[in-house]
Amino acid sequence: MSVSIPEIAKEHGLVPGHVYGVLAELGIEHEGDRFEVDAEVLELIRVSLGELAGSKEIRLPHGRTPRDVSLALGVPQPEIQKCLIQKLKTMASVATVLKDDVAEKLVANFGYTVHWGEAPKPKPKPAAEAASAKAALARPPVVTIMGHVDHGKTSLLDYIRKTNVVAKEFGGITQHIGAYQVDLPEGRITFLDTPGHAAFTEMRARGAQVTDIAVLVVASDDGVMPQTIEAINHAKNAKVPIIVAVNKIDKPGARPDKVLQELTQYEVIPEAFGGDTITCNVSAITGEGVPQLLEMILLQAEVMQLTADPKGATRGVVVEAKLERGRGPVATVLVQEGTLRVGDAVAVTAAYGKIKAMTDYKGEKVDAAGPSAPVEILGLSEVPMAGDTVIVVKSERDAREIAEQRKDDDRLKDIRQAHKPRMTLRGIREKLTQGESKELLLVIKADVQGSVEAVRGLIEKIENEEVEVKIIHYGVGSVTESDVLLASASDAIVVGFNVKPEGKAKAEAERHKVEIRTYNIIYELIDDIHKAVKGMLEPKFEEMYLGTVDIRVKFDFSRKGVIAGCYVTDGKVTRNARCRVKRGREVVFEGAISSLKHLKDDVREATVGFECGITFDGWQDFQVGDQIEAYEMVQIND
Ligand code: GDP
Repeated sequence: MSVSIPEIAKEHGLVPGHVYGVLAELGIEHEGDRFEVDAEVLELIRVSLGELAGSKEIRLPHGRTPRDVSLALGVPQPEIQKCLIQKLKTMASVATVLKDDVAEKLVANFGYTVHWGEAPKPKPKPAAEAASAKAALARPPVVTIMGHVDHGKTSLLDYIRKTNVVAKEFGGITQHIGAYQVDLPEGRITFLDTPGHAAFTEMRARGAQVTDIAVLVVASDDGVMPQTIEAINHAKNAKVPIIVAVNKIDKPGARPDKVLQELTQYEVIPEAFGGDTITCNVSAITGEGVPQLLEMILLQAEVMQLTADPKGATRGVVVEAKLERGRGPVATVLVQEGTLRVGDAVAVTAAYGKIKAMTDYKGEKVDAAGPSAPVEILGLSEVPMAGDTVIVVKSERDAREIAEQRKDDDRLKDIRQAHKPRMTLRGIREKLTQGESKELLLVIKADVQGSVEAVRGLIEKIENEEVEVKIIHYGVGSVTESDVLLASASDAIVVGFNVKPEGKAKAEAERHKVEIRTYNIIYELIDDIHKAVKGMLEPKFEEMYLGTVDIRVKFDFSRKGVIAGCYVTDGKVTRNARCRVKRGREVVFEGAISSLKHLKDDVREATVGFECGITFDGWQDFQVGDQIEAYEMVQIND
């Protein structure tokens, strides 16, 4: 059977490095992060792992790279890289072989020690075959351009397209299909044509992440602006690396150095300042620096080792779709895995069909499209939505069945989404005890810069051993749709100080079940967060009137107790209601209902004009003529 190393490590409360060590000792080979064994040997491995419980020592062979350490510790690559740069002052790419002492210090920073040993020999593979297999799997990076309005995102996309894409049809006009590709001697890049982080996060909130690299455009005559910061935080939360294009350097007022300086305040540390963010000075008008920018994108992609199998099962994502007269539903699909072909039967979330024709971004008809290629497809049953997934199946009939099933699934998902316990201030404690969360993520919006800083300062001071309070985005102004989408994609809470959500933001928050809390008193804001992480935020309840019921008959069954024969005169009464029984003005009972019947059946509710039988929880001294006021306790969000 095939076993996942990270998973078996987690089962034993260990890190993958422990498993690699045990495999080495037993002389068992592994392929990447999996290995093949029979049940007996697996039992032996489990026993060995059991003996390691609590051990902080991991066995590593000499000559480790940051990537190896990341795999062994099960710590994400960026954290390893950050530790190398910030704590060990060492610049190394993910594939650089580290000196043993550096590797030891790196591992020590995460609380482990190294036991140096030899790695089991990997299965011999002819070098040429291995290299060509890897090259065949490499895929172009998918890039989104982000940044503040008017900083030159569209101009940059247009310049790159104009200088690198040769149109074949329509008298030299390239097609806008939502994405295009450029071919350079060093490689190919796919650009998504809709600039900005809103589309990016909207797709992410729908569960589709297509972007590999974000190019952040900052105008050098304007500097870092609110949407620049938003873009940074959206990219960071999606764990997408940022390359900064400092634009408009042709302008007399350009101050590119100031831009780099400003960026450091938002934890984007340019390489020039010892950080790991690549920056490029460019002009989208003269084209200066653009070739270097493209080169940097390819370099970053190489480090990321993006791969996809063109021969595997085909999967893609819709990036744009519309209904066109004479052509029907038209969708631009970005292929992610495998190869999409004319004639393929596809299920596109709720739509389906057989691909009648495909056109690329140059307006050329194509028969096939491989990983990272955008193509416009014709032949779908309906117009899909951006973010919908595309899969290739055996026949159109299968496609239809799957699409229909997905339609149902989607409905289920919507229902599930609505009931999925989203992060809320009151709910954090519960999530914590269920082991679901160890952090409280916040998006902070306030009326002026001064209050943003004050709120941030106070929140950063909140210390709690179990919960880490993290601000993933902050800014001046009302709560926007983009704030809500970011919170939804990251399971964060939006906190507004002296500001209110915009209408659209409110609607989005309801749809995505994102909590927005607004305050006018800073002390209350901080106090609530304090209490939330300590689990002291008691839910507040309010009484909600349900209805009035008259008691008209008293049935005394010795076995079942005394039942009040009632008539609902207003509203309704429910099985779960609480009630107040009044005799004249005097309240003679206050408590819960223990049964509610209509004729002989138990019912959930009885509405106005109906008769029903009621028994009370632990009380039966009612009289004919008493009146019941039914109410419910509902939780309120302040
Ligand atoms: P977007 O809102 O970020 O897409 O910005 P646009 O691409 O629409 O550019 C806004 C304005 O800035 C336009 O008038 C562009 O011509 C101008 N612009 C963009 N890039 C440059 C540049 O590198 N140099 C100069 N001088 N102007 C630029």
